[in-house]
Amino acid sequence: MDIRGISGGRLRIDLDAIIRNHRLVAERVAPAAVGAVVKADAYGLGAIAVVEALRDAGCRLFFVAHLGEALDLRGVLPVDARLVVLNGLPPGAEALCAGADVTPVLNSPEQAQRWADAAQAAGRRLPAILQVDSGMGRLGVAAADLAPLAADTKFRSMIELVMVMSHLACADTPDHPANAAQLACFETAAALFPGVPRALANSGGAFLPAGFHTDIVRAGIALYGGAPNRSAPNPMWPVVALDARVIQIRTIAAGGGVGYGLSHRCERDSRIATIGAGYADGLPRSLGNRGAAWFGGVRLPIVGRVSMDSITIDVTALPAGAIGPGDWVELIGPHQPVDALADDAGTISYEMLTGLGARYDRTYLPASTRDRAVAA
Ligand SMILES: *Cc1c(COP(=O)(O)O)cnc(C)c1O
Repeated sequence: MDIRGISGGRLRIDLDAIIRNHRLVAERVAPAAVGAVVKADAYGLGAIAVVEALRDAGCRLFFVAHLGEALDLRGVLPVDARLVVLNGLPPGAEALCAGADVTPVLNSPEQAQRWADAAQAAGRRLPAILQVDSGMGRLGVAAADLAPLAADTKFRSMIELVMVMSHLACADTPDHPANAAQLACFETAAALFPGVPRALANSGGAFLPAGFHTDIVRAGIALYGGAPNRSAPNPMWPVVALDARVIQIRTIAAGGGVGYGLSHRCERDSRIATIGAGYADGLPRSLGNRGAAWFGGVRLPIVGRVSMDSITIDVTALPAGAIGPGDWVELIGPHQPVDALADDAGTISYEMLTGLGARYDRTYLPASTRDRAVAA
């Protein structure tokens, strides 16, 4: 269904800003290259549109979480682009992955063994990335298990190791001591694979000192305009704008309640606007009686609980008649960056973006083709 003009909310995604953010990270970490993390539908923004824009800007390295995501994207990428599955492969998926020319991350000796078997069965070397757990405790081969792998002749002969990688647990907190410890662990581990390019940093890591940039950076949230770390102003271009439509304005007398559970009581006669997006559209219930929308530079607090399809905001601060049904209020935009809304919701920009629902009227601002070449 074409929801243009009738939707409760509108989402604008600036592809040009994504390209500028990619270039900004690339300039910061040069000579390291910057691959684009486009897992979870490019953090909810639309993987096909985002990948096409980055591809046209010259990016040739993409990361997703699952093989299924890679298979959906392979067709929009040229043969010289590398598409990487960060979570690795479930047993039995090797032939599908190899046949689609997708590069798996090997997160365990068993995964490495199965990929070497798949290469033998295919009768050719297969590319792979080896992940080392340098201290995050999530995915990867333990440092102690690396030496046997490095010495394994079948592994060495059948697998073309295109990268050794690890992932930082605290990259968004620049002075966290775990960062230096992980870097040291990673460098020792990677030394077992001389000549193989190294990849450690995510968006946060790109804004750590140059030693963290190694050869390849995997940038996700920074491309989409989220703040790469907590201790500095966000240097990224905003990518997402989200507005919701006012669907009704009601006058509630002092003492009246608003919304499920009547969790808000009006202290004075109030004008309450109901806007057409709710938790089914990725606006968490935790925003109830906490967050705000914006209109004409005025902050309009959310009052009452967030419903599935609507939110109530107090518009009494606006002059009577200044806002009415059909007007749009800002939820993410110049007055309220995605990180600010996420803070109010008690979450992070990543969860806000990936939660944006399918009911918005989506507009993509095209990437300009002028002067946009990016590395990697
Ligand atoms: C998601 C992910 C990234 C991207 O992280 P950002 O903080 O969004 O830049 C990089 N590497 C791995 C292993 C990831 O899982």
